[in-house]
Formats: sequence, C-alpha cells, structure tokens
Amino acid sequence: MTPRHPISKSSIKARQSSKRQNNPNEPKVSQQPSQSLIEPGLYIIASPIGNLGDITLRAIETLKSSNLIACEDTRITRRLLSHYNINIPTTAYHEHNANTALPRLIKRLKNNEIVSLISDAGTPLISDPGYRLVQAAIAEDILITTTPGPVAAIAALTLSGLPTDSFFFAGFLPPKQTAKKNRIYQLANVPSTLIFYESPRRLSQTLKEMANIYGNRPAALVREISKKFEEVRRGTIGELSNELNALGQPRGEIVLLIGPPTPEKIIDNSEIDAELIKALAEMSLRDAVEKISLSFGMPKRQIYRRALEITSLDETEL
Ligand code: SAM
Repeated sequence: MTPRHPISKSSIKARQSSKRQNNPNEPKVSQQPSQSLIEPGLYIIASPIGNLGDITLRAIETLKSSNLIACEDTRITRRLLSHYNINIPTTAYHEHNANTALPRLIKRLKNNEIVSLISDAGTPLISDPGYRLVQAAIAEDILITTTPGPVAAIAALTLSGLPTDSFFFAGFLPPKQTAKKNRIYQLANVPSTLIFYESPRRLSQTLKEMANIYGNRPAALVREISKKFEEVRRGTIGELSNELNALGQPRGEIVLLIGPPTPEKIIDNSEIDAELIKALAEMSLRDAVEKISLSFGMPKRQIYRRALEITSLDETEL
C-alpha cells in the first residue's frame, strides 16, 4: 500500500500559489498562517491533560486551520480554544450523539473540509470518543492524521519507576464488582506493567482486590499529572492500599500502575488443569469447580469454562 503523505507543504504551497496567480482579482481573505499548509481530512488532536501549556504548536496551527472542531464537550474545549485565541466553530461528538453526529462529520469530510477531533483532555480515542469516527473515515478513504501529544497513561508510566520496556494499557476497569474482579484475574499473567485509569472513589476497593489477586507486586499511583498537586506514590500494592486507607479518598485524576509479575507468580494453567482433571474424576462438575476455584483463588466462571472445555476433549487431547 502506498502511504499517503498527509502534509506535503511544498506541493500544496505550489498548488495554492499557482491558483493565486490565476486569480489576481481574488479578494484577500484574512487567513490564519497555516491555512494553506494542511490538506482536508480528519485530524486527531492531542490536548493538555492539566497544564494548558502542554499542546504542540502544530496542534494549535491545525485547530486554527480547521473548518470544524469536533469536541467531546464543547464547553471544555472552548476554554482551551479561547486561551489560544482560536475562533473556529465547534460541534459536540461523544458516545451519546455519535449516531447523528458521525454521519454529519463524515459528510463534511467528504466535502473536503478539515475536521479536527479533540477530547476533554489528552489523546482522543484513548478511553475517549473517536474510535467509530476513525473507523468510518477509514471506510470512506478519508485522510486521517494526528498532532500527537499528551496521554495520561504514558506520562504516568514515565513517572512510576516501573518497567517501561513492555506495558499493557487496560483503561478503566468495569464498574460492576464481578466483572471487575474477572478482568483483574484475566490480566494477572500479562508479563508487562499494567496501566489503569481509575476514579478516586473506586480506588480503595480496586487496590484491595488487586492485593488479593496480584499479591505484593510493586505499584504506583500517579495523580494530577502536570497540575498543581501532581503526586506519585510508589510501593507494593498492599502498602499503597494501607496508605490510602490511612489518608482517605484522594482527589483528582489518577493512573494506577502495577509492575509485571515475577516468573514464580505467574499462574500456571497446566497446574490448574491437572488439579481440575483429578477433581473431575472424583466428584461432580459443580463440586470440582468449587474446589479448584477456592484452592487457586480463581473466579468460578473461569474454572467452570475450563472444566467444560476439558470434559469435551477426549483423553488423547489432554
Ligand atoms: N484521553 C485521555 C488520555 O489521553 O489520557 C484519557 C481520558 S479518560 C476519560 C480520563 C482518565 O485519564 C482519568 O480518569 C485519569 O485516570 C486519567 N487522567 C487524565 N488526566 C490525568 C492527569 N492529569 N493526571 C492523572 N491522570 C489523568
């Protein structure tokens, strides 16, 4: 596939200056400086996660050159835009209005307009709206590019002191207790630093759950990055959990990071299988699931699923 180069300044400049020469009587429109430099398409704009200064020059230029800025919350983005004196029309684009807003944005993009997508903070699509819009733009062969910048997960990782060579961004955990616990289990063997977005309200419960399942793995709580009360707490999951209990619910925005499991902490599925097979031979499926989930501290549903898989295999496959 030939890569589409999104911004070929020299060719676009040349095109535009020859246009101007062809139209000497064209009225002079007061344009922002970059307007002639960028091609129509969808621009994913990263914005600050706290400090308004954390936006790139190219992001500002691109916003100024846009025909329309699609924002998660227009009121929040307006603050950023007025700080940089950007006076471009905005429209709301979020989960709840995507069904109507998305076709309108695609129509404008197909009309060769420059549409920027921005979220309340950080990079759109990262635990923020935009995925469906990007999918739709790809399907329509619309140019998509980005002005990259802040992501809370990455900023937190660099502050955490935990291994950065391999990391797994897990976003927000499910709100319901059982689904949350299952997700924590699912990630137990990922051999990487785990990165979660978490609300201060749920943090204490989440740490308790993680201490039960992940044991004493190193962890970090990174709070209010780039803001006045930026703070990093490092320790084992248990230590952080105790500190939090003593200090009470923290304020602000938080990223929780968990260091990778040591090899001996990796839950060995073959060991679980061996015990499960033995139990299935001795008792009912229900009792076997109960026994194994208790002895390995694993969710019953997960053991039940594995028991069904095992009982449907013939002996040569085991
Ligand atoms: N799109 C954003 C990004 O690129 O990071 C994330 C948006 S998500 C809706 C919001 C979550 O990101 C917060 O609940 C928090 O976990 C994390 N976050 C955002 N800003 C933060 C900051 N300044 N300090 C710590 N965490 C932050």
